[in-house]
Amino acid sequence: MNRYVRARVSGIVQGVGFRPFVFRIARENGIKGTVSNNHMGVDIMAFGGKEKVARFLKALEREAPPAAVVEQIEITEAEPFEADSFSIEASSRGGERQVLVSPDLATCDDCLTELFDPSDRRYRYPFINCTNCGPRFTIISDTPYDRPNTSMAVFEMCEQCRSEYEDPSDRRFHAQPNACPSCGPSLWLAEPSGRRLEGDPVVEAAAFLRDGGIVAVKGLGGFQLACDATSDEVVGRLRERKRRYGKPFAVMVRDLGEAGRYCEVSAEEASLLGSVKRPIVLLRERADSPLSRMVAGGLAHQGLFLPYTPLHHLLMEEAGTPLVMTSGNMSEEPIAIGNAEALESLAGIADFFLMHDRDILVRYDDSVSRVFMGREYPLRRARGYAPYPVNVTPPARTEVLAVGPELKNTFCLLRGGEVFLSQHIGDMESAGEAEHFEEALAAMKRLFSLKPAVVAHDMHPEYMTTQMAREMGMPAVEVQHHHAHVVSCMADNGIAGRVLGVAWDGTGYGPDATVWGGEFLLCDERDSKRLAHLYQYPMPGADACIFRIYRMVMGVLSELFEDLDEAMACLRGRFDISDEEARSLEFQLSNSFNSPLTSSAGRMFDVAAALCGLRSEAQYDGQAACQLEAAAQAAGEPYRFMIDRGSDPWVLDTRSVFRELMDDLEGGTSAPEAAGRFHATMARALVDTADALSRETGLKRVALSGGVFQNEALTTLAVEGLNAAGLTPYVHGRVPCNDGGVSLGQAVIAANSV
Ligand code: ZN
Ligand code: ZN
Ligand code: FE
Repeated sequence: MNRYVRARVSGIVQGVGFRPFVFRIARENGIKGTVSNNHMGVDIMAFGGKEKVARFLKALEREAPPAAVVEQIEITEAEPFEADSFSIEASSRGGERQVLVSPDLATCDDCLTELFDPSDRRYRYPFINCTNCGPRFTIISDTPYDRPNTSMAVFEMCEQCRSEYEDPSDRRFHAQPNACPSCGPSLWLAEPSGRRLEGDPVVEAAAFLRDGGIVAVKGLGGFQLACDATSDEVVGRLRERKRRYGKPFAVMVRDLGEAGRYCEVSAEEASLLGSVKRPIVLLRERADSPLSRMVAGGLAHQGLFLPYTPLHHLLMEEAGTPLVMTSGNMSEEPIAIGNAEALESLAGIADFFLMHDRDILVRYDDSVSRVFMGREYPLRRARGYAPYPVNVTPPARTEVLAVGPELKNTFCLLRGGEVFLSQHIGDMESAGEAEHFEEALAAMKRLFSLKPAVVAHDMHPEYMTTQMAREMGMPAVEVQHHHAHVVSCMADNGIAGRVLGVAWDGTGYGPDATVWGGEFLLCDERDSKRLAHLYQYPMPGADACIFRIYRMVMGVLSELFEDLDEAMACLRGRFDISDEEARSLEFQLSNSFNSPLTSSAGRMFDVAAALCGLRSEAQYDGQAACQLEAAAQAAGEPYRFMIDRGSDPWVLDTRSVFRELMDDLEGGTSAPEAAGRFHATMARALVDTADALSRETGLKRVALSGGVFQNEALTTLAVEGLNAAGLTPYVHGRVPCNDGGVSLGQAVIAANSV
């Protein structure tokens, strides 16, 4: 007796060698029938003896190829049908496209072996790939994912490549970017003028890198700028030319062994470094690391990543030194993807250009991640991650577009139970970024046939994204920034209903026209209520406080002293302030001129860093706070704080914290020790406030979100403290806690509000 079944597999099952895999297990188990791709995923019709079918279905479930992500296998009994063998059928078209396209995949081990095998026909061929690895989303113009819809369409496969492509038993069966030196893309090295240089491009580029040159490398999702990571001189030159001061650079290393020479690498970190997603992983740098001090910019963590394209493997092998590998752009501009675009925009930065003729169709930066308490804690989702959807429950009835915030922007599209979160776009402050946003949005709508009916945006009236949302001609839902943070964390963890949300970050528009950022909110997917917040200090000069931190210090001091003169004397006793700045600060504070109140937790960390003498001005938002974390010793005794329950919302008063911090430092306590005590204080204050609010509301679940929770020391103490208090903390795991995750919260809130 034969059993006839139909199995429909959804998830990332196209372009990852799924059909050859099905073909193989069908043959192994004596199954007859067909397998094909359709708009939903992979469709299998199979029959055979009962036991054989059972074994086949078990293998289908358990042995999927490494790059596949199976979300669901729906098995139904089928009407009997005829077949002589098992075969792979051509893709069928039409219908609503719901198939997931795989993110780009790091070069697999089989391809690597061939890449370095002198007898292989693809020996040292920088575009080697197979169904288990290679470019995907960065080369696609449309779905289904077939060669004519990719930038490989212009290369006609040679006979040998074609026969691999057509042979179901071959690793390159239907590998859309399949190519070889005789038929595929080629690589060259050019001067900034565009003139091509003689010789092996990889060998020449590596020689220039060893000589202290800066080389632009055409990667997967855009150009990268590479230089020797052990040389202060060239790293400094790259910073000057790129106008990127202070912000850390990521470093590419040859392999895991090499990574261990520069940084501490745990087992979890090693598996994240080596995963097919290949993110930049933040690691603790070893004291004896030979990397230039200018690379990490004084922070506790160094971002390392492993080669993820054949070109990177060849280059790392040849260069023999770790390479800074940073996005190919001028600071604040999108990463360059076109050859002509790169030659123009990177002309003043790169000495040479390692480029090729396989077009990048979609812009993707490198992703940044880390391991927190044994689990992945992403910081920037782009290549290898996006647009793989995040599932949410319950499914939404309306399709929603959420345009995200101003900084670290991502947008997302919510359809049913799936949220397609865009790759990291960047700070929406330039025309270039707005274009990048529009381009990525158009691509995503096209690739997944998304037709949003509602748009969600931030409450901030001046955000570029707010204006864009209002001009889209759709019903618009405005969402408070910190509410979005908390709901993002809830969706990330698959929880719903009422929670206590702790949203600590640098900034966010509050409905009372003050700057929020140290918030305790009662939240669900629809509403939020502000239960408590950090003490509000004035920000003399508003956003000027983000970079001129001594200004924020003055804002704090103005609340610590009876009169402004005393506060100014205290400030000038600690920092070198020009008379002009002093007059401006005094004028702004005494007239409440351009001095909005803020409850921002991020600013409080900045102030503590400045008082500890770490820095009084920042080169980028959050730099001082990051240095405070780097400087901090293990948590010490907390300073005193007060929870003022007399007001609604409650106020978590930190004035005594800063008084005691200054006294402590004056009494001879070292900056690292004071920094440790400050971390302990903020964590204790968070836990005590959440605990008190929990008693008031009966809520036990506490969701932590906002950029401040990128601080590992603080977040660890907060999670431990909340657990000890009998509460259940939730932290992010699939989307960033920083503003890169905000669009997810916006989308879920909007879907529940219409
Ligand atoms: Zn491969
Ligand atoms: Zn070929
Ligand atoms: Fe935020």
